[in-house]
Amino acid sequence: MSPTPNAVLSPAGWERLLFPTDYDPDARLGYYGPYGGCFVPEILYTTMQELTAVFDQARRDPALWAEFVSVMSTYSSRPTPVTHLERLSERLGGAQIYLKREDLNQTGAHKINNVIGQGLLMRRMGKKRVIAETGAGQHGVATATMAARFGLECTIYMGAVDVERQRPNVFWMEQLGARVVSVEDGSATLKDAINECLRDWAFSMEDTHYALGTACGPHPFPQMVAWFQRLIGEEARAQMAEGPGLPECVYACVGGGSNATGMFLGFLDDEVELVGVEAGGEGIDSGRHAARLVGDDARPGIAQGYKTYFLQDEEGQMRHTHSVSAGLDYIGVSPILAHLGDTGRVRFEAVTDDEAIAALRLLMETEGIIGALESTHAVAGAIREAPTMKKDQRILINLSGRGDKDIFTIADALGDDNWQQFLRRRGQGA
Ligand SMILES: *Cc1c(COP(=O)(O)O)cnc(C)c1O
Repeated sequence: MSPTPNAVLSPAGWERLLFPTDYDPDARLGYYGPYGGCFVPEILYTTMQELTAVFDQARRDPALWAEFVSVMSTYSSRPTPVTHLERLSERLGGAQIYLKREDLNQTGAHKINNVIGQGLLMRRMGKKRVIAETGAGQHGVATATMAARFGLECTIYMGAVDVERQRPNVFWMEQLGARVVSVEDGSATLKDAINECLRDWAFSMEDTHYALGTACGPHPFPQMVAWFQRLIGEEARAQMAEGPGLPECVYACVGGGSNATGMFLGFLDDEVELVGVEAGGEGIDSGRHAARLVGDDARPGIAQGYKTYFLQDEEGQMRHTHSVSAGLDYIGVSPILAHLGDTGRVRFEAVTDDEAIAALRLLMETEGIIGALESTHAVAGAIREAPTMKKDQRILINLSGRGDKDIFTIADALGDDNWQQFLRRRGQGA
Protein backbone atom coordinates (compact mmCIF):
# COMPACT_ATOMS: atom_id res chain seq x y z
CA MET A 1 0.00 0.00 0.00
CA SER A 2 2.99 2.36 -0.14
CA PRO A 3 2.66 5.20 -2.64
CA THR A 4 3.42 4.02 -6.17
CA PRO A 5 2.96 5.86 -9.45
CA ASN A 6 -0.25 3.84 -9.86
CA ALA A 7 -1.65 5.38 -6.72
CA VAL A 8 -2.16 8.59 -8.67
CA LEU A 9 -4.45 6.76 -11.11
CA SER A 10 -6.29 4.87 -8.44
CA PRO A 11 -5.73 6.52 -5.09
CA ALA A 12 -6.46 4.62 -1.90
CA GLY A 13 -9.16 6.04 0.35
CA TRP A 14 -6.63 7.43 2.81
CA GLU A 15 -4.83 9.30 0.03
CA ARG A 16 -8.04 10.99 -1.11
CA LEU A 17 -8.88 11.80 2.50
CA LEU A 18 -5.51 13.29 3.48
CA PHE A 19 -4.51 14.85 0.17
CA PRO A 20 -7.79 15.81 -1.58
CA THR A 21 -6.18 18.53 -3.71
CA ASP A 22 -4.01 15.91 -5.45
CA TYR A 23 -7.18 14.58 -7.07
CA ASP A 24 -9.62 17.49 -7.09
CA PRO A 25 -8.39 21.04 -7.72
CA ASP A 26 -11.51 22.45 -6.06
CA ALA A 27 -10.99 20.57 -2.80
CA ARG A 28 -9.97 22.52 0.27
CA LEU A 29 -6.53 21.51 1.52
CA GLY A 30 -6.37 20.85 5.25
CA TYR A 31 -10.13 20.31 5.54
CA TYR A 32 -12.00 17.10 6.27
CA GLY A 33 -15.60 17.96 5.51
CA PRO A 34 -16.17 21.19 7.44
CA TYR A 35 -13.45 20.39 10.01
CA GLY A 36 -9.75 21.23 10.19
CA GLY A 37 -8.23 24.39 8.76
CA CYS A 38 -5.40 26.55 10.00
CA PHE A 39 -6.56 29.29 12.36
CA VAL A 40 -3.35 30.78 13.69
CA PRO A 41 -2.10 34.32 14.35
CA GLU A 42 -0.43 36.00 11.38
CA ILE A 43 3.04 35.63 12.89
CA LEU A 44 2.68 31.84 12.86
CA TYR A 45 0.93 31.59 9.52
CA THR A 46 4.18 31.82 7.53
CA THR A 47 5.67 29.03 9.64
CA MET A 48 2.67 26.82 9.01
CA GLN A 49 2.95 27.50 5.28
CA GLU A 50 6.65 26.65 5.35
CA LEU A 51 5.94 23.40 7.19
CA THR A 52 3.10 22.59 4.77
CA ALA A 53 5.45 23.06 1.80
CA VAL A 54 8.26 20.97 3.33
CA PHE A 55 5.91 18.14 4.22
CA ASP A 56 4.20 18.26 0.85
CA GLN A 57 7.51 17.78 -0.92
CA ALA A 58 8.82 15.19 1.55
CA ARG A 59 5.75 12.93 1.39
CA ARG A 60 6.11 12.65 -2.39
CA ASP A 61 9.66 11.35 -1.97
CA PRO A 62 9.47 7.55 -1.44
CA ALA A 63 12.88 7.75 0.27
CA LEU A 64 11.31 9.46 3.30
CA TRP A 65 8.78 6.67 3.92
CA ALA A 66 11.49 4.05 3.35
CA GLU A 67 13.79 5.79 5.83
CA PHE A 68 10.95 6.07 8.34
CA VAL A 69 10.12 2.36 8.09
CA SER A 70 13.79 1.48 8.37
CA VAL A 71 14.41 3.59 11.51
CA MET A 72 11.26 2.22 13.12
CA SER A 73 12.27 -1.37 12.41
CA THR A 74 15.70 -1.08 14.01
CA TYR A 75 14.79 1.32 16.82
CA SER A 76 11.19 0.56 17.75
CA SER A 77 10.51 -3.16 17.10
CA ARG A 78 8.43 -2.60 13.97
CA PRO A 79 6.48 -4.19 12.53
CA THR A 80 4.83 -4.68 15.91
CA PRO A 81 3.14 -8.09 16.05
CA VAL A 82 -0.53 -8.97 15.98
CA THR A 83 -1.42 -11.32 18.86
CA HIS A 84 -4.40 -13.70 18.81
CA LEU A 85 -6.03 -13.58 22.26
CA GLU A 86 -7.15 -17.18 22.45
CA ARG A 87 -8.03 -17.31 26.13
CA LEU A 88 -9.91 -14.02 26.15
CA SER A 89 -11.84 -14.99 22.99
CA GLU A 90 -12.71 -18.35 24.56
CA ARG A 91 -13.83 -16.65 27.78
CA LEU A 92 -16.16 -14.27 25.91
CA GLY A 93 -17.49 -17.08 23.72
CA GLY A 94 -17.85 -15.07 20.51
CA ALA A 95 -15.54 -13.47 17.94
CA GLN A 96 -11.80 -14.17 17.81
CA ILE A 97 -9.95 -11.18 19.25
CA TYR A 98 -6.61 -9.92 17.94
CA LEU A 99 -4.38 -7.16 19.32
CA LYS A 100 -2.08 -4.90 17.31
CA ARG A 101 0.79 -4.53 19.76
CA GLU A 102 1.74 -0.84 19.76
CA ASP A 103 2.63 -1.38 23.44
CA LEU A 104 5.83 -3.06 22.23
CA ASN A 105 7.20 0.15 20.71
CA GLN A 106 10.20 2.03 22.07
CA THR A 107 8.80 4.13 24.99
CA GLY A 108 5.81 1.78 25.18
CA ALA A 109 3.23 3.42 22.94
CA HIS A 110 2.38 4.50 19.40
CA LYS A 111 3.42 8.13 20.05
CA ILE A 112 7.00 7.37 19.03
CA ASN A 113 5.87 6.65 15.43
CA ASN A 114 4.84 10.26 14.92
CA VAL A 115 7.79 11.92 16.69
CA ILE A 116 10.38 9.87 14.81
CA GLY A 117 8.63 10.86 11.58
CA GLN A 118 8.73 14.53 12.54
CA GLY A 119 12.40 14.11 13.54
CA LEU A 120 13.17 12.94 10.00
CA LEU A 121 11.34 15.98 8.61
CA MET A 122 13.40 18.23 10.91
CA ARG A 123 16.57 16.83 9.39
CA ARG A 124 15.26 17.83 5.97
CA MET A 125 14.50 21.32 7.26
CA GLY A 126 17.89 21.54 8.98
CA LYS A 127 16.30 22.43 12.32
CA LYS A 128 18.25 21.65 15.47
CA ARG A 129 15.79 22.36 18.26
CA VAL A 130 12.44 20.69 19.00
CA ILE A 131 9.70 21.92 21.30
CA ALA A 132 6.51 20.19 22.37
CA GLU A 133 3.68 20.50 24.84
CA THR A 134 2.59 17.60 26.97
CA GLY A 135 -0.29 16.91 29.36
CA ALA A 136 0.21 13.50 30.91
CA GLY A 137 3.84 13.55 29.83
CA GLN A 138 3.77 10.63 27.38
CA HIS A 139 4.29 12.81 24.33
CA GLY A 140 6.99 14.71 26.22
CA VAL A 141 8.89 11.49 26.93
CA ALA A 142 8.53 10.36 23.29
CA THR A 143 9.79 13.74 22.03
CA ALA A 144 12.72 13.79 24.49
CA THR A 145 13.58 10.25 23.33
CA MET A 146 13.56 11.29 19.67
CA ALA A 147 15.69 14.38 20.48
CA ALA A 148 18.28 12.22 22.22
CA ARG A 149 18.29 9.75 19.32
CA PHE A 150 18.77 12.51 16.71
CA GLY A 151 21.02 14.79 18.78
CA LEU A 152 18.58 17.72 19.02
CA GLU A 153 18.02 20.35 21.68
CA CYS A 154 14.64 19.79 23.34
CA THR A 155 12.27 21.93 25.43
CA ILE A 156 9.00 20.52 26.76
CA TYR A 157 6.18 22.78 28.01
CA MET A 158 3.99 21.34 30.70
CA GLY A 159 1.38 22.89 33.02
CA ALA A 160 2.61 23.24 36.62
CA VAL A 161 -0.31 21.12 37.84
CA ASP A 162 0.65 18.34 35.41
CA VAL A 163 4.33 18.59 36.41
CA GLU A 164 3.23 17.77 39.97
CA ARG A 165 0.85 14.98 38.90
CA GLN A 166 3.20 13.31 36.42
CA ARG A 167 6.54 13.38 38.22
CA PRO A 168 7.84 10.05 36.82
CA ASN A 169 7.48 11.32 33.23
CA VAL A 170 9.10 14.67 34.14
CA PHE A 171 11.98 12.73 35.67
CA TRP A 172 12.54 10.71 32.49
CA MET A 173 12.25 13.72 30.18
CA GLU A 174 14.98 15.46 32.18
CA GLN A 175 17.17 12.37 32.30
CA LEU A 176 16.82 12.11 28.52
CA GLY A 177 18.28 15.60 28.25
CA ALA A 178 15.16 17.75 27.77
CA ARG A 179 14.45 21.02 29.54
CA VAL A 180 10.99 20.86 31.10
CA VAL A 181 9.32 24.27 31.49
CA SER A 182 6.59 24.34 34.10
CA VAL A 183 3.81 26.73 32.97
CA GLU A 184 2.07 28.63 35.78
CA ASP A 185 -0.46 30.60 33.65
CA GLY A 186 -4.21 30.00 33.66
CA SER A 187 -5.24 26.60 34.96
CA ALA A 188 -1.59 25.47 34.62
CA THR A 189 -2.57 22.44 32.52
CA LEU A 190 -2.33 21.29 28.90
CA LYS A 191 -4.05 24.23 27.18
CA ASP A 192 -1.74 26.71 28.95
CA ALA A 193 1.28 24.61 27.97
CA ILE A 194 0.07 24.76 24.33
CA ASN A 195 -0.16 28.57 24.48
CA GLU A 196 3.34 28.87 25.92
CA CYS A 197 4.73 26.48 23.34
CA LEU A 198 3.18 28.53 20.49
CA ARG A 199 4.65 31.71 22.04
CA ASP A 200 8.10 30.10 21.99
CA TRP A 201 7.62 29.01 18.38
CA ALA A 202 6.57 32.48 17.20
CA PHE A 203 10.05 33.71 18.15
CA SER A 204 12.13 30.62 17.39
CA MET A 205 10.77 29.14 14.16
CA GLU A 206 14.06 29.81 12.30
CA ASP A 207 15.81 26.91 14.02
CA THR A 208 12.96 25.25 15.94
CA HIS A 209 10.27 22.71 15.07
CA TYR A 210 7.09 22.25 17.10
CA ALA A 211 6.39 18.51 17.25
CA LEU A 212 2.65 18.25 17.88
CA GLY A 213 1.67 14.94 19.44
CA THR A 214 -1.67 13.98 17.95
CA ALA A 215 -3.80 14.34 14.80
CA CYS A 216 -5.16 17.71 15.94
CA GLY A 217 -4.19 21.36 15.73
CA PRO A 218 -3.79 23.59 12.67
CA HIS A 219 -3.07 22.21 9.19
CA PRO A 220 -0.72 20.50 8.30
CA PHE A 221 -0.46 18.74 11.69
CA PRO A 222 -3.52 16.45 11.47
CA GLN A 223 -2.50 15.41 7.95
CA MET A 224 1.16 14.90 8.85
CA VAL A 225 0.57 13.00 12.09
CA ALA A 226 -2.03 10.77 10.39
CA TRP A 227 0.37 10.11 7.52
CA PHE A 228 3.09 8.79 9.84
CA GLN A 229 0.69 6.91 12.13
CA ARG A 230 -0.91 5.10 9.18
CA LEU A 231 2.07 2.76 9.48
CA ILE A 232 0.00 1.03 12.19
CA GLY A 233 -2.96 0.37 9.91
CA GLU A 234 -0.85 -0.52 6.90
CA GLU A 235 1.07 -3.16 8.90
CA ALA A 236 -2.03 -4.47 10.67
CA ARG A 237 -4.01 -4.89 7.46
CA ALA A 238 -1.18 -6.84 5.83
CA GLN A 239 -0.72 -8.99 8.95
CA MET A 240 -4.42 -9.84 9.13
CA ALA A 241 -4.71 -10.44 5.39
CA GLU A 242 -1.71 -12.79 5.34
CA GLY A 243 -2.78 -14.51 8.57
CA PRO A 244 -6.31 -15.11 9.83
CA GLY A 245 -8.04 -12.86 7.28
CA LEU A 246 -9.39 -9.32 7.55
CA PRO A 247 -11.40 -8.58 10.71
CA GLU A 248 -15.13 -7.76 10.75
CA CYS A 249 -14.36 -4.77 12.95
CA VAL A 250 -11.46 -2.73 14.27
CA TYR A 251 -11.42 -0.93 17.63
CA ALA A 252 -9.18 1.92 18.78
CA CYS A 253 -9.36 4.41 21.65
CA VAL A 254 -9.72 8.11 20.85
CA GLY A 255 -7.89 10.87 22.71
CA GLY A 256 -6.66 13.40 20.16
CA GLY A 257 -7.18 10.63 17.63
CA SER A 258 -3.73 9.68 16.35
CA ASN A 259 -3.66 5.95 17.13
CA ALA A 260 -7.24 5.53 15.92
CA THR A 261 -6.68 7.48 12.71
CA GLY A 262 -3.41 5.63 12.04
CA MET A 263 -5.15 2.28 12.45
CA PHE A 264 -8.36 3.17 10.57
CA LEU A 265 -6.57 4.58 7.49
CA GLY A 266 -5.33 1.07 6.73
CA PHE A 267 -8.90 -0.27 6.45
CA LEU A 268 -10.82 2.63 4.84
CA ASP A 269 -11.42 0.79 1.56
CA ASP A 270 -12.40 -2.51 3.15
CA GLU A 271 -15.75 -3.75 4.32
CA VAL A 272 -14.56 -3.49 7.88
CA GLU A 273 -16.45 -1.67 10.61
CA LEU A 274 -14.32 0.97 12.33
CA VAL A 275 -15.10 1.79 15.97
CA GLY A 276 -13.57 4.65 17.96
CA VAL A 277 -13.88 4.47 21.75
CA GLU A 278 -13.97 7.66 23.80
CA ALA A 279 -13.56 8.17 27.53
CA GLY A 280 -16.99 7.93 29.15
CA GLY A 281 -15.47 8.76 32.57
CA GLU A 282 -18.12 8.45 35.26
CA GLY A 283 -20.85 8.12 32.60
CA ILE A 284 -22.03 10.39 29.79
CA ASP A 285 -24.93 11.68 31.90
CA SER A 286 -22.65 12.57 34.83
CA GLY A 287 -21.02 15.38 32.86
CA ARG A 288 -17.67 14.00 34.09
CA HIS A 289 -16.27 12.48 30.90
CA ALA A 290 -14.25 13.33 27.79
CA ALA A 291 -16.69 12.16 25.08
CA ARG A 292 -16.86 14.57 22.15
CA LEU A 293 -18.37 12.46 19.38
CA VAL A 294 -20.67 10.41 21.61
CA GLY A 295 -23.47 12.29 23.41
CA ASP A 296 -24.41 15.96 23.03
CA ASP A 297 -21.94 17.77 25.26
CA ALA A 298 -19.58 18.79 22.45
CA ARG A 299 -20.28 21.20 19.61
CA PRO A 300 -18.25 22.25 16.56
CA GLY A 301 -16.12 25.30 17.18
CA ILE A 302 -12.74 26.82 16.48
CA ALA A 303 -10.01 26.70 19.12
CA GLN A 304 -6.32 25.89 19.37
CA GLY A 305 -5.86 26.56 15.66
CA TYR A 306 -8.49 24.30 14.10
CA LYS A 307 -12.18 23.50 13.76
CA THR A 308 -13.66 20.40 15.33
CA TYR A 309 -16.03 19.20 18.07
CA PHE A 310 -15.01 20.74 21.40
CA LEU A 311 -16.43 20.11 24.83
CA GLN A 312 -17.69 23.62 25.54
CA ASP A 313 -20.46 25.27 27.49
CA GLU A 314 -23.20 27.60 26.14
CA GLU A 315 -20.79 30.54 26.16
CA GLY A 316 -18.12 28.64 24.26
CA GLN A 317 -15.89 28.22 27.32
CA MET A 318 -14.04 24.93 27.39
CA ARG A 319 -15.49 22.41 29.84
CA HIS A 320 -13.53 20.46 32.37
CA THR A 321 -12.96 16.94 31.12
CA HIS A 322 -12.48 13.79 33.11
CA SER A 323 -11.09 10.34 32.45
CA VAL A 324 -9.22 7.78 34.50
CA SER A 325 -6.74 7.70 31.61
CA ALA A 326 -4.72 10.89 31.22
CA GLY A 327 -4.25 10.36 27.47
CA LEU A 328 -7.97 10.41 26.59
CA ASP A 329 -8.73 13.51 28.62
CA TYR A 330 -8.83 16.16 25.89
CA ILE A 331 -11.43 18.80 24.90
CA GLY A 332 -11.05 18.51 21.11
CA VAL A 333 -10.72 15.62 18.67
CA SER A 334 -9.03 15.02 15.35
CA PRO A 335 -10.89 16.82 12.53
CA ILE A 336 -10.30 13.68 10.44
CA LEU A 337 -12.28 11.56 12.91
CA ALA A 338 -14.98 14.25 13.30
CA HIS A 339 -15.52 13.99 9.54
CA LEU A 340 -15.39 10.18 9.40
CA GLY A 341 -17.95 10.19 12.22
CA ASP A 342 -20.31 12.61 10.43
CA THR A 343 -20.17 10.52 7.25
CA GLY A 344 -20.84 7.32 9.18
CA ARG A 345 -17.59 5.60 8.21
CA VAL A 346 -16.51 5.40 11.86
CA ARG A 347 -18.86 4.54 14.72
CA PHE A 348 -18.10 6.04 18.13
CA GLU A 349 -18.79 4.61 21.54
CA ALA A 350 -17.97 5.61 25.10
CA VAL A 351 -16.59 3.36 27.82
CA THR A 352 -16.61 4.31 31.51
CA ASP A 353 -13.59 4.41 33.85
CA ASP A 354 -14.87 1.27 35.58
CA GLU A 355 -15.29 -0.65 32.32
CA ALA A 356 -11.76 0.31 31.20
CA ILE A 357 -10.32 -0.94 34.51
CA ALA A 358 -12.33 -4.17 34.33
CA ALA A 359 -11.02 -4.72 30.78
CA LEU A 360 -7.46 -4.13 31.98
CA ARG A 361 -7.88 -6.80 34.67
CA LEU A 362 -9.41 -9.29 32.25
CA LEU A 363 -6.60 -8.74 29.74
CA MET A 364 -3.96 -9.30 32.45
CA GLU A 365 -5.74 -12.35 33.84
CA THR A 366 -6.39 -14.13 30.55
CA GLU A 367 -3.43 -13.06 28.43
CA GLY A 368 -0.65 -11.68 30.68
CA ILE A 369 -0.74 -8.33 28.88
CA ILE A 370 -0.72 -5.05 30.85
CA GLY A 371 -2.43 -2.54 28.56
CA ALA A 372 -2.40 1.23 29.03
CA LEU A 373 -5.65 2.55 30.53
CA GLU A 374 -6.21 4.49 27.31
CA SER A 375 -5.94 1.32 25.24
CA THR A 376 -8.12 -0.78 27.53
CA HIS A 377 -11.01 1.55 26.64
CA ALA A 378 -10.80 0.00 23.16
CA VAL A 379 -10.53 -3.47 24.70
CA ALA A 380 -13.66 -2.78 26.79
CA GLY A 381 -15.57 -1.77 23.66
CA ALA A 382 -14.58 -5.03 21.98
CA ILE A 383 -15.49 -7.05 25.08
CA ARG A 384 -19.05 -5.73 24.77
CA GLU A 385 -19.38 -6.67 21.13
CA ALA A 386 -17.46 -9.97 20.91
CA PRO A 387 -20.11 -12.17 22.56
CA THR A 388 -22.71 -11.01 19.99
CA MET A 389 -20.52 -12.25 17.13
CA LYS A 390 -19.80 -15.70 15.71
CA LYS A 391 -16.70 -17.71 16.59
CA ASP A 392 -15.33 -17.50 13.07
CA GLN A 393 -15.58 -13.71 13.02
CA ARG A 394 -12.70 -11.44 14.03
CA ILE A 395 -12.16 -8.24 15.98
CA LEU A 396 -8.86 -6.38 15.79
CA ILE A 397 -8.01 -3.97 18.63
CA ASN A 398 -5.23 -1.41 18.57
CA LEU A 399 -3.42 -1.74 21.90
CA SER A 400 -1.93 1.75 21.72
CA GLY A 401 0.36 1.41 24.74
CA ARG A 402 1.46 -0.53 27.78
CA GLY A 403 0.21 0.14 31.28
CA ASP A 404 3.30 0.26 33.49
CA LYS A 405 3.03 4.05 33.48
CA ASP A 406 -0.43 3.79 35.06
CA ILE A 407 0.74 1.93 38.17
CA PHE A 408 -0.31 4.73 40.56
CA THR A 409 -3.79 5.11 39.04
CA ILE A 410 -4.40 1.38 38.65
CA ALA A 411 -3.24 0.50 42.17
CA ASP A 412 -5.50 3.27 43.46
CA ALA A 413 -8.49 2.12 41.43
CA LEU A 414 -8.01 -1.49 42.49
CA GLY A 415 -7.57 -0.36 46.12
CA ASP A 416 -4.36 -2.32 46.60
CA ASP A 417 -3.49 -2.00 50.32
CA ASN A 418 0.08 -3.23 50.04
CA TRP A 419 0.80 -0.59 47.42
CA GLN A 420 -0.70 2.14 49.63
CA GLN A 421 1.46 1.00 52.54
CA PHE A 422 4.51 0.98 50.27
CA LEU A 423 3.78 4.60 49.25
CA ARG A 424 3.34 5.66 52.88
CA ARG A 425 6.64 4.03 53.90
CA ARG A 426 8.44 5.78 51.03
CA GLY A 427 6.76 9.06 52.00
CA GLN A 428 8.01 8.78 55.56
CA GLY A 429 11.48 7.88 54.38
CA ALA A 430 11.75 11.04 52.27
C1 LIG B 1 -1.54 9.56 24.22
C2 LIG B 1 -2.11 8.22 24.20
C3 LIG B 1 -3.38 7.97 23.62
C4 LIG B 1 -4.26 9.05 23.08
O1 LIG B 1 -3.75 9.74 21.99
P1 LIG B 1 -4.31 9.53 20.51
O2 LIG B 1 -3.72 10.68 19.77
O3 LIG B 1 -5.80 9.59 20.58
O4 LIG B 1 -3.85 8.22 20.02
C5 LIG B 1 -3.83 6.66 23.56
N1 LIG B 1 -3.12 5.65 24.06
C6 LIG B 1 -1.90 5.84 24.64
C7 LIG B 1 -1.16 4.66 25.17
C8 LIG B 1 -1.35 7.12 24.72
O5 LIG B 1 -0.17 7.30 25.30
